Amino acid sequence: MFHIEYPRSRWEEPGYTIAEHTGSPPIRWADITTVVIHYPGFARFAHPASPSEVITHTRQEQRYYADGKGYSLGYQWLVTIDGDIIQSRGFDWANAANSPANGWSISIQLHCEGVGDDADEASPAQVAAVNQIIAEATRRAGRPLTVVGHRDTKPTSCPGAGIYRQIQAGVFRPDDTPTPPTPPDPTPTPPPTGDIVLHTVAQSGDGWWAIARRVYGNSDVAANAAALEAANPGVTIHPGDTISVPGRAVR
Ligand SMILES: [Zn+2]
Repeated sequence: MFHIEYPRSRWEEPGYTIAEHTGSPPIRWADITTVVIHYPGFARFAHPASPSEVITHTRQEQRYYADGKGYSLGYQWLVTIDGDIIQSRGFDWANAANSPANGWSISIQLHCEGVGDDADEASPAQVAAVNQIIAEATRRAGRPLTVVGHRDTKPTSCPGAGIYRQIQAGVFRPDDTPTPPTPPDPTPTPPPTGDIVLHTVAQSGDGWWAIARRVYGNSDVAANAAALEAANPGVTIHPGDTISVPGRAVR
């Protein structure tokens, strides 16, 4: 388990605890396939943030949810720009941030400066923290999880241009901490066989992950995307480009 700099006990207020305003069931790990990344959508965000700023802001977000929406802050975790992890629902309750995907996803909000097309990328410390969370979620789910942005599940600008670019580039993935072997995918997509190099034409909006899914299917997407990237050193993908595709999925 990763380090939680701001457990609920450090920021919750009486009358506004997560438990008091959460009617969601526990996370059903057998159903979890996806990690959804969010951002706040505020123009400015404190960075570096002092502990009192982090605590005050988290309380404000919980009050906004509890008073305005009638339920607790919907994310599992939030991560400050400094890479500190804040516990919201944690792994104790299903999330309420990704409707209609709440039942099969976990959600993480990354503190971020800027809105929409002007929003920043996640900091290296933030990426490292998120990837620890993804690693733990992957271990609990017992299968590789697909990492997407909120905008992939419904029409929204969330998680902003910078972080979404990083998602498409495969920046968010389980960290290198050893994890127990995962059971084989029940419905594996047979990868192309042979050691030949195939080619595929990039489509609008493609990143390595999107191409990996299209070519190799939904198994081992992170590894396949990494292999694609390695097979195309220094390449930035544009629509219509021809991309080299290794003929064998890397496991
Ligand atoms: Zn969102």
